Amino acid sequence: METALQKLVTKNWNRAVPMSALFELTFVCNHACSFCYNCPTGQKEMTTAEIFEALRKLADFNVLYLTLTGGEPLVRKDFFEIARRARELGFALRIYTNGYLIDEAMAKRIKEIANPIEMEISIHGAKPETHERLTCVPGSLQRVIDAVKHLRAQGIKVNLKCPMTCDNQEEVLDMYRLAQSLEANIIFDPVFTPVAAQRGEHQGAEGAQDDVAHLPRADRGAQGRGRDGGPSADAEGSRAVGRLLQLLHGGGRASDRGPAGLLSSGGQERRVQVEGLRGLESEDRGVG
Ligand code: SF4
Repeated sequence: METALQKLVTKNWNRAVPMSALFELTFVCNHACSFCYNCPTGQKEMTTAEIFEALRKLADFNVLYLTLTGGEPLVRKDFFEIARRARELGFALRIYTNGYLIDEAMAKRIKEIANPIEMEISIHGAKPETHERLTCVPGSLQRVIDAVKHLRAQGIKVNLKCPMTCDNQEEVLDMYRLAQSLEANIIFDPVFTPVAAQRGEHQGAEGAQDDVAHLPRADRGAQGRGRDGGPSADAEGSRAVGRLLQLLHGGGRASDRGPAGLLSSGGQERRVQVEGLRGLESEDRGVG
């Protein structure tokens, strides 16, 4: 006996239209992450009316899960208008944010108006200096911690998400413990989306190139040696992730989902979103 959700999944799959969509509401952000691929380009932002129209089209296609992201979505003055409209249209909302603007009052508004099924907040290290080296914003790790506390106080599920780099690979266990102490999940994401020095005007762009060059290839079990004959960043990363996996469920690969959904590569989910949106484009043009 198919549930209503299974029927909807089957219907959308057969029509090649998406179950979920990810909406980048703005390029603007209050952080300046050295690796950011979604930088302000001077392009015109969508107006509230244009966004409402796009939401209506997505609802017409039976999209169920809608992720609001940016840039930093909460910097948009009309964010709550957009969230309200999205809820009226029946979307189950997710919000991706850096958490910087979420104080107690903001967390209450998020609960009352958006009522998301979950929030995802980026974290780049367990130590302020590690996190803030990438965000280039002093105090930003403490803001993440405070944001999680405020959201959890409202009963909102929070996933911390950590893109792994050579800077934070030795802090995975500490980040995991931090997430536990905050009653949040944590996802370690080995998928990185480098864009050649688009944030050249921000400090740290050169550092981002180094990060990409030495990314831990944890999911491939790299065992390479560094230039000095010692363990390479790849090998160190593999060991750090290996220790984490042992702690969580006693073995496996970095792309496995842990027993409590704590660990994910994120890659598969992204591929599904891209394929789904391709289907949406085709439908929109009356193709296929
Ligand atoms: S938080 Fe960092 S990675 Fe995310 S949009 Fe802002 S600058 Fe880019």
